Amino acid sequence: MPIATVAANWKMNKTAVEGAAMVRAMKDPLEAVSNVEVIICPGFPSLQVVAEILRDSTVRVGAQNMHPKTEGAYTGEVSAAMLMETCRYVIVGHSERRLHFCETDGDVNLKTKAALKAGLIPIVCVGENLEEREQGGAERFVSSQIRGALSGVHPSGIVVAYEPVWAIGTGRAATPHIAQGIMSLIRHELSDMWGPETARTTPLLYGGSVTHDNISDFARQPDIDGALVGGASLDADSFVRIVRSASAAGT
Ligand code: PEP
Repeated sequence: MPIATVAANWKMNKTAVEGAAMVRAMKDPLEAVSNVEVIICPGFPSLQVVAEILRDSTVRVGAQNMHPKTEGAYTGEVSAAMLMETCRYVIVGHSERRLHFCETDGDVNLKTKAALKAGLIPIVCVGENLEEREQGGAERFVSSQIRGALSGVHPSGIVVAYEPVWAIGTGRAATPHIAQGIMSLIRHELSDMWGPETARTTPLLYGGSVTHDNISDFARQPDIDGALVGGASLDADSFVRIVRSASAAGT
């Protein structure tokens, strides 16, 4: 098992040509960091070319979203089976999908189950917004998201990302103490649902304004197994530095 998992969420950035150039530039330095599971999640049009460049690589490819149905009349959507041709991972329930596309915990639950059924590893995102945190309800909110998203999910091969909404893209990361507190709660919820061994081996990632300056502080927390990185993953040097730091912090 790698000591850390670091996933890059490119969101709606980079054309296929730009993405390919960046992955070519990062491939060797990322592969040189042997004890970190590195996942690149580009936009759909870049998946094929990125997967081709990473065909024999230890660096994995992930998608940013999927539809829960296996096929059918869902114009503009992408199924897990379609992603299986290029991806090992898929992000589900990102807060931007919840906010802009009205995704509910029920939707996230269906997507998680469909991803697992097809053989993809879902990276299930949870996290409270500022209002919930300020009202003292962050723990209750995240617990309920975990329960809702993972209800009836077979306990194997998932990754959970805790991404407080107020920390995403704001430059205002959670403190390692806050992040550790919620991660420990998530671990506890998973243990309650699936038993301590599965809870212990499920990678828990922190996301929200992670940079090469703060990744080590997060990676050193006992219940943080890596990071989901947005903005800082768009630059090759910055992302490679984050992966190296995650590796160094875990050894
Ligand atoms: C994200 O959107 O998953 C994310 C963590 O973004 P950023 O690193 O830019 O805060």
